[in-house]
Amino acid sequence: MNLQQELKGKFGYSSFREGQEEIIRSVLDQQDTVAMLPTGTGKSLCYQLPGYLMDGHVLVISPLLSLMQDQVEQMKVMGEKRVIALNSFLPYLERKGALEQLHLYKFIFISPEMLMNSGVISSLQALDISLYVIDEAHCISQWGPDFRPDYLKLGELKVMLGNPTTLALTATATEEVRKDIKKVLQMELAVEMVYSVDRRNIGLFVEKVQGQNEKLHTLLEYVRTWGGPGVVYFSSKRIAEDVAQWLLENGVTGVAHYHGGMDQEDRILIQQQFLSGKLRMICATSAFGMGVNKENIRFVIHYHFPSSIEAFLQEIGRAGRDGERSISVVLYSEQDLTLPLQLIQSELPDDDQIRGFIEESRNGRTKELIEHLQLSEVQFRFLTYYTDKLTAGWTLDEDRLLEKVKQIRNNRLQYKKDKLYSMINWLHATTCRREKLLQYFDEKSGGDYSFCCDVCGDSLLEFKSEPFTLNTENPGVTNWQKRLEKLLLG
Ligand code: ADP
Repeated sequence: MNLQQELKGKFGYSSFREGQEEIIRSVLDQQDTVAMLPTGTGKSLCYQLPGYLMDGHVLVISPLLSLMQDQVEQMKVMGEKRVIALNSFLPYLERKGALEQLHLYKFIFISPEMLMNSGVISSLQALDISLYVIDEAHCISQWGPDFRPDYLKLGELKVMLGNPTTLALTATATEEVRKDIKKVLQMELAVEMVYSVDRRNIGLFVEKVQGQNEKLHTLLEYVRTWGGPGVVYFSSKRIAEDVAQWLLENGVTGVAHYHGGMDQEDRILIQQQFLSGKLRMICATSAFGMGVNKENIRFVIHYHFPSSIEAFLQEIGRAGRDGERSISVVLYSEQDLTLPLQLIQSELPDDDQIRGFIEESRNGRTKELIEHLQLSEVQFRFLTYYTDKLTAGWTLDEDRLLEKVKQIRNNRLQYKKDKLYSMINWLHATTCRREKLLQYFDEKSGGDYSFCCDVCGDSLLEFKSEPFTLNTENPGVTNWQKRLEKLLLG
């Protein structure tokens, strides 16, 4: 089959990017495949093109609602009408209607949670699914960033759907995680297609600062010099908001904040303003980024560093998708070390919460229990999953159960701490940062770099981006809150 021709005809692209053709051929040969391609290189094409060339339906399991919506919108813009997203955004009646008409859709995007619904499963079983795709597949590993037990069932589901060819896509998965993906998806014999995670056009810098004041002023200086577009990452929603405000007060125009605590409408508005150049910069938490297809992001600055190298790579990978020189800077102060440790600890239940959960579950898992024990969503999922798993089929006395759950919690905590320590080690690197980053993914650095990292002697001063001009077609863009109020309240 002449895939180049199909590519040109269906998508208008003249050539494949590295890895795409091999992955597509593997899928068309009906091989289960785990594919790792760097962020922004075009993973979606790896299931879209085969989808068009295969009979039957393509089921895409996508972990993030916003990402799913974006992908579906993008396909619609490209002229594909037979595409649908089944998730909690879809109102009940529409969902019901869609399930009855599912055979009309070629591409069905779905959240893992929705796939646990027996009605949804039987509607899917009535279809001929030829390709089962798991996007951002690192999330399904037991060591994924969030504890999402629903992912662990995706293997069973695949079997229930008649074992379609499976494609697991990810941008960042270590060998251990890739092994786990194959295990969960019950495809130990899957071929692995792993392409370099190296983003050669992104310079890697760590800037040591003494305390928050110096950090703020360094940030201000960089932002003034580089103009934009850029993203600054924070671990705290409040600090992201405060710093965005402080930058505005210090004369930087076109800055907004973005985090998971904001309303959906606000988030969409900010994202769109950023995409259209009406904002130069976003101060965001990790909630910002997946599915944001902006080609010319020139810098990603970490005001707080993330708690793993995988997350770091995902976040810096949003820069320089157009291939132009771009930059990643971590502003690092020794005081920053405590915050990620606290965050990791707070993601898992403490001893009292575990004990309370086991005792109070005797009367059922009520809303009061969650409130009383102040459990986050992830903590609740963790406790429910493991207490159910450990007690399934036999009775375990409460003391033994408590000990076992604590042990699992401790293992998970240690695993997360190890990830964090790898990140911190990288910040303290005394040899080439790129090489260290690649080593983490069992890769070797590939030759000469004209712009590599601070340890290799490159300087941030060498980085000059094109002047950035805010798109001011619509005046008053920095005052987005007022505009939004006006829009909503009339
Ligand atoms: P990711 O790997 O992050 O999922 P996407 O699939 O969203 O990346 O693709 C990123 C961008 O690259 C999209 O705008 C897409 O249209 C474009 N793209 C993908 N493949 C090609 C190609 N072969 N030639 C040109 N552009 C491509």
